[in-house]
Amino acid sequence: MKLPSFDYACPATIAEAIALLTVHGAEAKPIAGGQSLVPMLAFRLTAPTLLVDLRKLSELRHIKITDAGVALGAMVRWRDILSEPRLRQAHPLLVAAVEHIAHYQIRNRGTVGGSLAHADPAAELPGIAVTCDADVVAHGSAGPRVIAAADFFRGALTTALRPDEIVTEIRFPAWPKLRRFGFREFARRRGDFALAAAAVTFDAMEKQFRNVRVGTIGIGERPTRLKPAERALEGGAITDAAVADCAAAASSAVDPPDDIHASGAYRKTLISVMVERALRDAIDGAIA
Ligand SMILES: Cc1cc2nc3c(=O)[nH]c(=O)nc-3n(C[C@H](O)[C@H](O)[C@H](O)COP(=O)(O)OP(=O)(O)OC[C@H]3O[C@@H](n4cnc5c(N)ncnc54)[C@H](O)[C@@H]3O)c2cc1C
Repeated sequence: MKLPSFDYACPATIAEAIALLTVHGAEAKPIAGGQSLVPMLAFRLTAPTLLVDLRKLSELRHIKITDAGVALGAMVRWRDILSEPRLRQAHPLLVAAVEHIAHYQIRNRGTVGGSLAHADPAAELPGIAVTCDADVVAHGSAGPRVIAAADFFRGALTTALRPDEIVTEIRFPAWPKLRRFGFREFARRRGDFALAAAAVTFDAMEKQFRNVRVGTIGIGERPTRLKPAERALEGGAITDAAVADCAAAASSAVDPPDDIHASGAYRKTLISVMVERALRDAIDGAIA
């Protein structure tokens, strides 16, 4: 399908990009990899009068690994994450999740900032950001601001971003040495968006679950942590009974709607299976 017509700008600096977005307001949209925006244009789900291409903003392509954690620039692509070997130590859960994103061609263009701003409820990065207490950094005409991932995602395709703001970075806290993780996703075909996915992390201390996180993707309007499932484990011994309790609590904590891909009842069962498998993977890592 032909795209609607629009003007195009390709600023050389973040300041120029923000100036364009400030002048044109909600009529303008940034474009990064185009892997979500171009289909939306083609289907007439959005019709901005100006596209502000971020491709020249090389200062948004950084991958920084420090004692404070991992910072990824907004223009880092999925492919960049998968081809940076240090990330496999610095944030193994992030890498495990990105491995599930789409296909080679899409991973070659899709970006961190585009995924965060697009806020698809079934996308992997927003789910990992919420599970791991990441911060999203945005720059706009009022300057930079840092938004906790849990506050950034407001609903399906809806974020806390203002029309004049661009995402510039995501920051993940440091990955502790004792941290274990599991990530399980169910999709109809490899590379499809998840019907449901679960990310589980905990710190294994004296054979107990500590700092438990249970995050879900594809189950509601936005990625969420399942606090009842976390409470079922926190401080307790690493046992089969605890795993079963956590999976049951995960299922009870969600109420997914029916949609064209699956019924709510199916997803409710699916999430308990994903949580249980992700948790067992994490435990196997702990024991190994
Ligand atoms: C067939 C197919 C399968 C896919 N499967 C998956 C999948 O399994 N998992 C998954 O997570 N994703 C999947 N995607 C989406 C893909 O990962 C996209 O690349 C991603 O969602 C958006 O990144 P982008 O850089 O292409 O953003 P764009 O398409 O360029 O932009 C998306 C939105 O974000 C805005 N935007 C972009 N960058 C910024 C910025 N820095 N600041 C503010 N706003 C910005 C744009 O204005 C637009 O509204 C799939 C896409 C396709 C086409």
